[in-house]
Amino acid sequence: MSGPVSRHGFRGQVTLDGPSGTGKSSVARALAVRLGASYLDTGAMYRAATVAVLDAGIEPTDAESVTRSVSAARIDIGTEAGTELVQVDGVDVATRIRGVEVTRSVSAVSAVPAVRRLLVDRQRALVADAEAIVVEGRDIGTVVLPEATLKVYLTAAPEIRAERRAGQLGVTDPAEIAAIAADLRRRDDYDSSRADSPLRPAPDAVVVDSSGLDREAVVDRVLELALTAVGEKA
Ligand code: C5P
Repeated sequence: MSGPVSRHGFRGQVTLDGPSGTGKSSVARALAVRLGASYLDTGAMYRAATVAVLDAGIEPTDAESVTRSVSAARIDIGTEAGTELVQVDGVDVATRIRGVEVTRSVSAVSAVPAVRRLLVDRQRALVADAEAIVVEGRDIGTVVLPEATLKVYLTAAPEIRAERRAGQLGVTDPAEIAAIAADLRRRDDYDSSRADSPLRPAPDAVVVDSSGLDREAVVDRVLELALTAVGEKA
């Protein structure tokens, strides 16, 4: 066991799944800090795998070659909420994984079942190493950690998600915001309709709609749910 000392006496795992642009990452990080827990961004792992595929000059839709290049790559991911460590073969890719090139190809790479098996094994190993952890992704409550202490599915209205993503990127032009909305829709459709581990809430997940809430209110709500799940008070 390693990682930060848990505050509030929380021990266990909180899973945060949901579509893009719901504020999942910032909520997950803030929650991990409040709980004194570790934090795992599984999307960053699929994005790092995509860097390995692109650098090998492979088409993201060529499942066999994609699997070979992801298996050969060393993907290192940090589990501290306060720092972002993402490396592929020892090279820092924390900024590059957020770029358009990776974002355009990540859904195809993450739809490859062998890639998912590789990364899910790594995710479970990282989780097993932590006393308390917040894990965000698409299939964490359904596939990776179905026995987690608390499973949350975070949603928000599509137009709100596009506006939030535009805000993060500093985009104000309505045409560009419309393009962001189209890209979110494309990724959500792809992620929800793939055969292996589609995006959907676990049957026992608590669905939290963040449309009318600011980040702090969402964090407060999920913190309360996490503490209730372990019999503690917020
Ligand atoms: O969360 P983020 O936008 O960084 O995720 C990037 C992509 O990685 C998603 O659109 C999805 O295709 C994939 N992903 C996944 N399973 C996860 C996390 C992310 O398939 N657990």
